[in-house]
Amino acid sequence: MTGSLYLHRLQPTELFTRMSTPQPPTRLTLLESVRRGGASTRGDLGQVTGLSRSVVAQVVSELVAEGLLVERRISGPVRRGRPTSRVQLAPQQGFAAGIDVSHRHIAVMLSELDGEVVRDQEIDFDVDVDSSATFRMARRLLGDAIARAGLRGRRLVAAGVSLPFPVVGADRVVAPVGYVPGWDGARPHDLLRLEPGTLLVVDNDADAGAWGELMQDDTARSLLFVKVGEGLGSALAVGGQVFGGAHHMAGEIGHVLVPGSRLPCRCGGVGCLDAVVTRAVDPAASAEEIDAAGAALGGVLAQLASFVDPDVVVLGGSVGSDPGPFAERIAAGYNALASRIHHAPLRAAVLGRRSELQGALDRALCQAWNALASPSAYALAR
Ligand SMILES: [Zn+2]
Repeated sequence: MTGSLYLHRLQPTELFTRMSTPQPPTRLTLLESVRRGGASTRGDLGQVTGLSRSVVAQVVSELVAEGLLVERRISGPVRRGRPTSRVQLAPQQGFAAGIDVSHRHIAVMLSELDGEVVRDQEIDFDVDVDSSATFRMARRLLGDAIARAGLRGRRLVAAGVSLPFPVVGADRVVAPVGYVPGWDGARPHDLLRLEPGTLLVVDNDADAGAWGELMQDDTARSLLFVKVGEGLGSALAVGGQVFGGAHHMAGEIGHVLVPGSRLPCRCGGVGCLDAVVTRAVDPAASAEEIDAAGAALGGVLAQLASFVDPDVVVLGGSVGSDPGPFAERIAAGYNALASRIHHAPLRAAVLGRRSELQGALDRALCQAWNALASPSAYALAR
C-alpha cells in the first residue's frame, strides 16, 4: 500500500533533489525524524536527514511556531558559546488508534500522537460471519477503550484498520473474493462510522504487519513479511514502503501450487499453499503434514527472497510468535534453499502476534502527522 510518506527513510542523495526550497516534504522529513528518532538536536537532524543547517533551522522554527515541535535547552557543556537545544514533538490534543480485525478476534490500541501507547485491549469474535456485526463490535470496543483510557473529549485524529481480507481500490473496499460472503465488497469507511474529519487508513493484515515490522527495524528498508496462523498472508516492503502493486494485491502467495498436493482450497482450486498451511496449523495435523507444509512454505519464501533480495524475511502470525515444529520446519525449508542462492535471513517477527495491530497504529500515526505537517490541513486536524 502506498500513499503515505516515510520520507525519513530516503537516502541523503534522494533528499537532495527536494532540498532547494523547504517544501512540505522537508517539513514531513524533519517531523518524521523527530518522531521516529525521539529527541534530537538541530545538528542531529541535519545529519540524519542530509538537510543543510539553514534549512533545518528554518523548518524547525516554523514547526515550533505552529506548535508541532518544542525546543528544550540541554544542560551540560556549551559548545561554541551557544547553548544546545533538543527538539521534541510538542504534546498534541489529539490521539490515534489502531484496530486489528483478525479471523477470530478484534483488538484496539490507542496512543498519544508521539506514539506512546495508552490502551490496548482485545476480544474474541467470529469475524468471518459478517462485516456489519464485526464493525459494530469494533466500534463498541473502540468506544470502550477510549472511555477506559480517559480520552473522551479528546480528538481521534486518525485510525488504522487491519483486515484479514484483500483490500482494494482508492476507497479501500474488501475485494469480492467469494469465500467470505459476509465480507465481499464491505466498505470499512462506511461501517466504522468515525467522526467526520477523522482520518482512516485501511490495510490488508499482511500489509499492516509488514508496516509494523518495518517501523521496528531501523536497518531494513526492504522486507518480506509472512503471516502464518489463522490463514496465510504475505507482503513486501521495498525502499521503506510497503509495496501494493497495481491492484493492492501484491504479496499474495496463498494460491501458489504445491507440487503433489491434492488438498482442496477455499478458492475452489486444488493443491494451493494456503490449503497445505491451513491443514498444518490444524491441531489434528500429522507430523508428515507439518513437515510437508513447512518445506513447501519455506521453499516458496526462499524463491521469493531470491527474486526480490530483501534485507530480511520476517515470519509473523501465531506460528511466527510461538516457535514450534511448524516454525522450525518452515525455517529448515527456507534455509535449505536460501543458503545456496542468497543471504536474506529469516527471523521471527519482533512484535510477535502484534505486528498487525502495531502496524495499523503506525499507519494512523503517519496519517496524523502527514496532516499536521501540511499547513492547510493542520487547522483541520487539530
Ligand atoms: Zn487456492
